[in-house]
Amino acid sequence: MFKITERQYNIIMKQAMRAYPNETGGILGGRKDTITGVLPIANKISQESTNKFGISSEDIERAYKFLIKHKLEYLGVYHTHPKGLPYPSEQDLAHHQKYLFIIGLRDRKNPEFYAWKAENGLVKPEDIKIISDVGVTVVDIMTGKPKLSENIGGKELDRLTRMINAFIEGKEPEYHKYNPTNWDASSFSTFA
Ligand SMILES: [Zn+2]
Repeated sequence: MFKITERQYNIIMKQAMRAYPNETGGILGGRKDTITGVLPIANKISQESTNKFGISSEDIERAYKFLIKHKLEYLGVYHTHPKGLPYPSEQDLAHHQKYLFIIGLRDRKNPEFYAWKAENGLVKPEDIKIISDVGVTVVDIMTGKPKLSENIGGKELDRLTRMINAFIEGKEPEYHKYNPTNWDASSFSTFA
């Protein structure tokens, strides 16, 4: 189970609804199972992108700086499915991230925030509990482009870069074939 502070949750929801019908997303940081830091990736929001969102090298620098500044662990990438359900696509799963955080906007005024754990070829939903907490300061998405701190190991940056590059290369397949009323989490492993 993941926990997310109310403030961070609201930021994600607001971002998701504001970007609609474009896809958007960002980086989640925290400690163990608690999401306390959200870094929205804003640079593509205003561009035409209804089926993917992009992360630039500057975003990666910003993400690293954000995580280190707040002493947060990297928990994963979140992204929206503006017209779809919050279930990971095969492309989403192809990036081999341990956790996938997806916001479905089928009902754009009532976004669904889901977390998924991918492990050993199985994909399982993880509960997300909203907790009351001021959380970590959220980076102002309109601020400039801080340079990468010199004390960040190149190896770590390469790793994050690879992960994010793999993520943004993915295309969103169709979601509409999954009927939510018939959908059964226990059989979801057929995806992988
Ligand atoms: Zn997706």
